[in-house]
Amino acid sequence: MSALQVPEHGAVVVIGAGHAGTEVATELRACGYDGMLTLVHEEKGLPYARPPLSKAFLLGATTEVDLAIRPGNVYLEQRIEVLAGTVDALDCGRRKVRLRGGRELSYDAVVLATGGQPRRLAGSDIERAPNVHYLKTLADATALKKNLRTSSKLVIVGGGYIGLEAAAAARQLGLQVTVLEAQSRLLARVTSEPVSDFYLRLHESHGIEIRLAVQIASFEFGAGGHVTAATLADGGRVACDVLLVGIGQQPRTELAERAGLAVAEGVLVDVACRTSDDRVLAIGDCARQPYGADQAMRRIESVDNALQQARIAAAALTGKPLPVRAAPWFWSNQFDARLQSVGLYTPDCERVVRGDPQTDSSFSVWYLKAGTLIAADVVSSPRDFAAARRLVGGAVSVPAWKLADTSVPLNHLVTSATCAKSKVLPSSKSTPVSV
Ligand SMILES: Cc1cc2nc3c(=O)[nH]c(=O)nc-3n(C[C@H](O)[C@H](O)[C@H](O)COP(=O)(O)OP(=O)(O)OC[C@H]3O[C@@H](n4cnc5c(N)ncnc54)[C@H](O)[C@@H]3O)c2cc1C
Repeated sequence: MSALQVPEHGAVVVIGAGHAGTEVATELRACGYDGMLTLVHEEKGLPYARPPLSKAFLLGATTEVDLAIRPGNVYLEQRIEVLAGTVDALDCGRRKVRLRGGRELSYDAVVLATGGQPRRLAGSDIERAPNVHYLKTLADATALKKNLRTSSKLVIVGGGYIGLEAAAAARQLGLQVTVLEAQSRLLARVTSEPVSDFYLRLHESHGIEIRLAVQIASFEFGAGGHVTAATLADGGRVACDVLLVGIGQQPRTELAERAGLAVAEGVLVDVACRTSDDRVLAIGDCARQPYGADQAMRRIESVDNALQQARIAAAALTGKPLPVRAAPWFWSNQFDARLQSVGLYTPDCERVVRGDPQTDSSFSVWYLKAGTLIAADVVSSPRDFAAARRLVGGAVSVPAWKLADTSVPLNHLVTSATCAKSKVLPSSKSTPVSV
């Protein structure tokens, strides 16, 4: 794949104005790109941040205005044209994108930042029910919030981050909440048992009913086509007046597929975020990129990943050195607990628990592979999370007992790791250091 540097007075089109799209646009300016820059935005209003939608926004603690990723004047000042519309074709041969309605834009480079869409409940007949919600956009969150205000029983299908955050918000608004999860534990795809168990206890202690390992057999409908209950394969029945489905997200790859780009559960990109066409880059939730010691292709859904890939893409397009990829991080707020994760947990790694998740409101779980730290989940300790980012980012080799021993301060481990790093030769940069 040849390196692309977009001409200084060229034309760059960014498709999708979430965190990834807005960041690559502003970062291109920061990197000195002076040409035409169009950010195609298919939603209403200014580009906005999604994380508060399942948290503060549902609670009424933040408003639509606070969600803007950047104030409107930034786009004007930086000559970023925010163009309302949906791109329905990408023609790599003619170097044009076509918007719904027929307008075409020429490009020297395109950045796909098309994100994802909620996975639908397969084989169910709930899609048209007025009290069934998914939670992805501001419009989704506004509709759900409105419905919660006049309801008393919320059923959530899916015990992942979005489902649990919405459960916590709805409970705080006074609703009776039941979470139906198909797996035998919460957050099973993204974290380990000690963290799952902690969140189960947290939600139950606030009066949320969590039902694990359940399968939905069918739904019951009432007046106006509203869903009134979910019936379960084990014969159970859970009544509701609002239903939220939060069972994950699928990448929006349809444009890339139709354009003939390499796609496999995400638009495939290299370390510089370039797709199989050297004038098209892809970043954020829609992209799959090599990551980690094994350089496996991974799609990561988080704000931090979107921002990191946006900065890489901007550097690639302007011929700047690529920023070093840091371990991605993520957060989730539920009731008073703030989970912060860094790196990518995989079920096959060794785990070390620091603190007691049964009794402590703050603890952490550390994940190692062949003795090297690859990820950490930290609950309600910003200081430990700061250390976790440095340790995981440094791919440090730490004896499990030191991590587990709460009398060994984490910042001592960080200091030891920093000293050890400074002693290794530059040629062995990727070799983990031991502390
Ligand atoms: C409710 C919710 C809560 C979240 N909470 C957290 C959190 O606490 N922490 C965290 O790190 N992450 C969180 N996330 C995930 C995080 O928001 C995303 O991973 C991140 O913002 C990446 O965004 P993106 O720009 O890649 O994609 P998106 O935010 O999905 O943006 C893509 C945009 O592209 C547009 N688009 C798609 N196709 C086209 C087209 N053909 N033409 C024009 N436009 C198009 C879409 O309409 C959309 O606006 C949350 C997500 C949601 C939905």
